[in-house]
Amino acid sequence: MLNEKMLALGSNRSTIRELFEYGKMRAAIVGAENIYDFSLGNPSVPSPPEVNEAIRAILAEEPSIAVHGYTSAVGDNNARDAIADNLNRRFGTSYTRDNLYLTCGAAASLICAFRALITGDDSEIISIAPFFPEYRAFVESNGGIFTLIPADTENFQIRFDLLGEAISEKTKAVIINSPNNPSGVIYSEETIKSLAALLTEKSEQAGHPIYLISDEPYRELVYSDKKAPFTANYYKNTIICYSYSKSLSLPGERIGYVLIPNEADNRIDLFNAVAGAGRGSGYVCAPSLMQRVIARCSDVMPDISSYRKNRDFLYNALTDIGYECADPSGAFYLFVKAPNGDADCFAEIAKKYDLLLVSGKDFGCDSFFRAAYCVDYDMIVRSIPSFKKAYDEAVNRS
Ligand code: PLP
Repeated sequence: MLNEKMLALGSNRSTIRELFEYGKMRAAIVGAENIYDFSLGNPSVPSPPEVNEAIRAILAEEPSIAVHGYTSAVGDNNARDAIADNLNRRFGTSYTRDNLYLTCGAAASLICAFRALITGDDSEIISIAPFFPEYRAFVESNGGIFTLIPADTENFQIRFDLLGEAISEKTKAVIINSPNNPSGVIYSEETIKSLAALLTEKSEQAGHPIYLISDEPYRELVYSDKKAPFTANYYKNTIICYSYSKSLSLPGERIGYVLIPNEADNRIDLFNAVAGAGRGSGYVCAPSLMQRVIARCSDVMPDISSYRKNRDFLYNALTDIGYECADPSGAFYLFVKAPNGDADCFAEIAKKYDLLLVSGKDFGCDSFFRAAYCVDYDMIVRSIPSFKKAYDEAVNRS
């Protein structure tokens, strides 16, 4: 007898992975240069040079038994000190290592946060469409209820009327992701302030904190003057889940952190519950070499110029054709309205022109598709005639 939830998760491949595999199959037939694959959110710029320099220096300077050994369960002091210093300088906070629990990327951070809060079958975590589909898997496989608030398809902010109605006593947390995958939109300061006010009011009504889990792997990938507001400065019961996967192009190295702010209610217990969730999930002691890299590179910022160049070209080319896009202020995704209003159907039409796009259905927004522009610039240029043909076919059919 197997765990049915785990069996289902392991047996069903994600739509994005299927599309990626399909692309490889088509490439073998028509040639890789004729496939326009916008499916995966895998960074296309190399890690900043400081990262490899740090790795070389660590290997040269530190004893290998230490470099490859266990660190303390919560993470190395030097790395946590460096992260706290960086955040304090940028966001006017006063964190120390004691606010930080190092993990294996944002996925592990999120699971630690969910597991720390889910207390039984009626524990609910609410997210807002469009959303990162793994949230559902993470919450449900850890015994919680996952609820999704429909998208604001005009501005991709938050439909507070619907969120306000949905929050109840069983709600443990609301999870947000800004800059957002898949929309590329950044929540405005006004949105974060309204969210903080709503959660404060609802926490009082419920008689317990309703946490804000802020999933921020794209925090540093911003193309407008308006930076993503630092959520913990607006709402005390925030749990920040961060990752270096996108900012330092290190997705395979599995390094990130959970941050519990000083102001959070029962801060020590909350931190210990997160650490306990890490222990219970076997995530203790994030990769040791990467912890050392972060200790040396916490101030390194990504060079986002190629993403910006890709974004500008793709956005302009698509809007010239007639597509409508969400405001692409951050991350590396364009979220585009399907010209026929049905993203599943449009993604199939696009495939005929070897254009691999992800339908927004899995993201909770079925009239939009996602194009990840963390790809080769020349491929984007070559793909535009296919975007035009797919657009014309979709419009003619509808
Ligand atoms: N959250 C969001 C919104 C993401 O887009 C991703 C990865 O694409 C993750 C979390 C997981 O990130 P990590 O690779 O650090 O586990």
